[in-house]
Amino acid sequence: MMEILRRLLQPRLLPPTKDGYQAPVGALADGWTCDDPSCGGGEFFDPAKAAIPRRCASCGSGTYPVPAWPWWHGARRAELDALSDQAGQEGDEVLGTLVDFHLLTWTFENHLMLGHRRDALVSLQETDVRLRTAMREDRFFTEGSYRLELVRGALRSGDPDTALRVIEPWVALAREEGAGYGTDLKSDNAARTNYRCLVAACLAWTEDARTSNHGRRTTLVTWTLDTAGAHHVRDWLTGPQDAALDALEPGRRGRR
Ligand SMILES: [Zn+2]
Repeated sequence: MMEILRRLLQPRLLPPTKDGYQAPVGALADGWTCDDPSCGGGEFFDPAKAAIPRRCASCGSGTYPVPAWPWWHGARRAELDALSDQAGQEGDEVLGTLVDFHLLTWTFENHLMLGHRRDALVSLQETDVRLRTAMREDRFFTEGSYRLELVRGALRSGDPDTALRVIEPWVALAREEGAGYGTDLKSDNAARTNYRCLVAACLAWTEDARTSNHGRRTTLVTWTLDTAGAHHVRDWLTGPQDAALDALEPGRRGRR
């Protein structure tokens, strides 16, 4: 019965995405977006319980599917390629730089999804060098979002050990107050973003089901609490991060 219901709700072949990615037969969508770029309509949902509507709920225009992971990975590549073309045509160097870094994180995850861990580690090394260079050369550049994406990509691929290869030097970089990790988070937007992303990455690792009995879990929890509890950082985390940290170490805030 569920299977019949699912087939009725979910077409066997999703329509192409906004950027022309065609998911294979049987792929699921876990969301949709409006095809009118000025509308911004869209929704995420459990693909077992909902299906993409033909018409946007806000404006009645058509819709594009958002494929669920792992097909999302292919859709993401099509999106990045389209943005790269746009940056080239418009001569937009800022967009071009952003897309180049997103492509690096995409490539790293792609190697992991194919089971090519060595290639992933080579890609990680190159990405790390380029991020450090960008941070030194431009104090407004925020590397944290890319490093967080590397961690999420490794966890999505079921590889918490490779995620640690991203987190460990990152924690050291922050501890040593390297480029992009200043101490005045109130006025330094880049440092604020970078620290928040680092804490988010540590929390994502500790919250992953595969790490509950991991040999380095205690180390990672210590890194998380030390980073989040640093004098210049602790007042600048988000509400959900504070709640997650309290769950990791009950009574944390009372001990300040
Ligand atoms: Zn709409």
